[in-house]
Amino acid sequence: MNLDFSAEQRAFRDEVRAFIRERLPAEIRERLRLGHPPRKQDTVAWQRILHERGWAAPHWPRRYGGADLGLAERLILLDEIYRAPAPLPQAFNTGMLGPVLLKYGTEAQKDHFLPRLARLDLWFCQGFSEPGSGSDLASLRTRAERDGDDYIVNGQKIWTTTAHLADWVFALVRTSTEARKQEGISFLLIDLKTPGITIRPIVSIDGEHHLNEVFFDNVRVSVANRVGDENRGWDCAKYLLVNERSGIANVGLCRERLDYARELASRITEGGRPLAADPKLKAEFAELDAEVRALEVTNWRFLLDPQAQQAQPAFASVLKLKGVELQQALAALLARIDGPAGLERRGIHGVPERHGPLSPRYFYSRAASIYGGTSEVQKDIVAKTIVG
Ligand SMILES: Cc1cc2nc3c(=O)[nH]c(=O)nc-3n(C[C@H](O)[C@H](O)[C@H](O)COP(=O)(O)OP(=O)(O)OC[C@H]3O[C@@H](n4cnc5c(N)ncnc54)[C@H](O)[C@@H]3O)c2cc1C
Repeated sequence: MNLDFSAEQRAFRDEVRAFIRERLPAEIRERLRLGHPPRKQDTVAWQRILHERGWAAPHWPRRYGGADLGLAERLILLDEIYRAPAPLPQAFNTGMLGPVLLKYGTEAQKDHFLPRLARLDLWFCQGFSEPGSGSDLASLRTRAERDGDDYIVNGQKIWTTTAHLADWVFALVRTSTEARKQEGISFLLIDLKTPGITIRPIVSIDGEHHLNEVFFDNVRVSVANRVGDENRGWDCAKYLLVNERSGIANVGLCRERLDYARELASRITEGGRPLAADPKLKAEFAELDAEVRALEVTNWRFLLDPQAQQAQPAFASVLKLKGVELQQALAALLARIDGPAGLERRGIHGVPERHGPLSPRYFYSRAASIYGGTSEVQKDIVAKTIVG
């Protein structure tokens, strides 16, 4: 298949590049380039700028704050955001919940939530995993019992990224224990200010607070906040997970991190010579370059080739697997190039040319082969598709 951009696509890419150059705040760009994760205020500020063009949720219909962009334009936009580098649109809102609402939501849910998700007026987090129910998600035990027009929710979620920063959570809850476990799950939208919710921090190996435990103690949730039919939440979850996995490939991020690694290696010297002159490192760069290119092409095939898309969810799993391997290899390479000095943690307002965030990023990158479905589980999905 032809992977070259058409004249219109090239023009669109130039338009996006010019927009980002003009509108992305320099401080946000520099934080990300040095390896810091985006802060909530960075994501909100940048998403609202993108939203002016419908680019915060480019694949959504215009009436909900999107831009009705086709797959190719969407990918071009995403690549340019990564390359800037700029924060991505908040993925729980635009990449996961939004598409689920578009497919399964009521008109009232779409009208109320989608514009707020696109503008980041509401920050959603994802309440799927529970202690003992991660890979085997369908075994989840958080219960929702019907009480008139409400559900009463009791149970616990874990590893809930950004719950402490969020306004709402989309959660999978058990509404029946009678049928197969997948057939007793419902998908609820829950306001985190509702009485009975407790959020406790989990500090990860990078020393940061991204993750949480979320406890539900007799939490009252209106039935109107259920997405899809009762006991059909697994359909929403499966649809969402395929979107989550293909998003996690983060192809543009790999390209941007490889470019940054090259830049660092040409700046940092050892014995009076830049690290980039080392033949072993040169070979490593060449190999990673080829791997990133192969991932780019695979990503294009997935998005543009209808036959490849029919192979979902296996194709999304391949992208997730390979993308994560590369992200981890690049994070390790960056930490290595940075050397022992990089182990010392410094804030952005510390010494400007130090690269403190790269080691914490390396540690956190280990989690990429766990979240969104572990690498072992992705390999299982691929194997089942091949073997049948
Ligand atoms: C940084 C981070 C952020 C996260 N954010 C969120 C979030 O926002 N919301 C949310 O709901 N969840 C989140 N998660 C949870 C994540 O989805 C789960 O950790 C993941 O699905 C794995 O589940 P588990 O931790 O229970 O491990 P387990 O499922 O217990 O797996 C343990 C080990 O057994 C292996 N294993 C399990 N089953 C199989 C199998 N069938 N075949 C082969 N090997 C198997 C796994 O690969 C793994 O190595 C996050 C996790 C991390 C680490």
